[in-house]
Amino acid sequence: MPTPIGHTLAGAILFAAQKNRRVVFFILLVFFALLPDVDFLFGFIIGDANRYHHFFTHSFIFVILAGLAGGVIYATWKKDSILKSSAIFISAGISHVILDILALDKREPFGCPIWWPFSNEFVISPVLVFSDVSRVSESKYFIQSLFNEHNMRTILIEFAVLAPLLIVVFGIRKLKLVRTKTSGLS
Ligand SMILES: [Zn+2]
Repeated sequence: MPTPIGHTLAGAILFAAQKNRRVVFFILLVFFALLPDVDFLFGFIIGDANRYHHFFTHSFIFVILAGLAGGVIYATWKKDSILKSSAIFISAGISHVILDILALDKREPFGCPIWWPFSNEFVISPVLVFSDVSRVSESKYFIQSLFNEHNMRTILIEFAVLAPLLIVVFGIRKLKLVRTKTSGLS
């Protein structure tokens, strides 16, 4: 699995591609890009943080339903399009699942149950781009176990892959804005 930093970068890339520049929209996008890892909490409560990790919250159906609910709430609140808002929040959730199946996984079953509940098969990409997160399962030591050299390397890989993409998407969006403004002036 990539780190929360990797997933936040994926959310930021999606945000950079949007016209909507609201801070709350950015926060929600990052929230949905991180949401599948809420399954750490289920195990954390019983003292075994890794216990339920990479289960149903890492399926397409979960991220679609969560994004849809988020889209309806956001669009109603900000008087925006339900379809557009839902689509972008669903994309944020899908970005999480994709990043996870592109990452090294040392714990069986490898990958994510992306087709749950239709299939319990775990899927992982044959080509891995990202590294994994070294961590203990015991809740008491879980947080402090995240701060190590291996995880710093994992973060560096995420920056190396995703930061250039973020810059490119941001640049394209800026160019489009400038063009729209200049064509509006003429
Ligand atoms: Zn995950």
